[in-house]
Amino acid sequence: MISFEIITLFPKFFLSPLKESILRKAQEKGLIRVRVHNLRDYTKDKHHVTDDYPYGGGAGMVLKPEPVVEALEETRDCRSNSQSILLTPRGKCFSQNMAEQLTNYQQIIFVCGRYEGVDERIRTFVDREISIGDYILNGGESAALVIVETVSRLIHGVLGSHESISGESFTTGLLEYPQYTRPKSFRDYAVPDVLLSGNHEEIRRWRLREALKMTFLRRPDLFETKMLSDEEKKILNNIKQELSMLQDKKS
Ligand code: SAM
Repeated sequence: MISFEIITLFPKFFLSPLKESILRKAQEKGLIRVRVHNLRDYTKDKHHVTDDYPYGGGAGMVLKPEPVVEALEETRDCRSNSQSILLTPRGKCFSQNMAEQLTNYQQIIFVCGRYEGVDERIRTFVDREISIGDYILNGGESAALVIVETVSRLIHGVLGSHESISGESFTTGLLEYPQYTRPKSFRDYAVPDVLLSGNHEEIRRWRLREALKMTFLRRPDLFETKMLSDEEKKILNNIKQELSMLQDKKS
């Protein structure tokens, strides 16, 4: 079981997403635990102040270090393999690989920033900093949810057999092949014949080819880290030749 601990100024943010569908079932089955900690509960002053003006001036407020570090220290379970994460646009970009690594921890603690961000000294008290992409959110809450969901679905038993992760985009190092369901024909668009053929080997080869083509056209950067099998190299070369012939015809 992985225990997710979320330190936030807005605990209610998590009410609905954690009570729906796969994440709800994963908690009911005891495969994950998600606890949301209100940052205000870790303040020591009468007014439960969690933020203050930035030194040096400038717009907005900054989360103070004392309550955040207090929350981190109280939440961390020293007996378990724990990892604390500061959510920040300056962090390492979250990926499927990182999600796989995170499944090795028994406890994952998230610090959700708000306003202009957090006091710089908080960085010293966390194990890593993660960003979920090159854009700015209002707070770390949606980033924490993205990571909880991505990591949880990798835990054995969280997904039913009909929601298998094998073959999914990024898991294989490629984007996924196109998926179709009934009806066989929709408006002017038919399902590719090969998928109706019942020939498993042909279907496997078609899917591999489509995955390679999709990746080549949309995310060629993924090939920089993927080790291709001989079969994949051959198909990819073939796709490249086909595409360049098409290009030649057009020009
Ligand atoms: N002033 C900060 C900056 O320019 O980098 C942005 C602060 S943002 C409005 C408030 C909080 O949202 C951040 O402290 C962080 O916790 C969270 N956040 C915003 N964008 C994020 C991203 N791409 N990934 C992870 N967390 C993010």
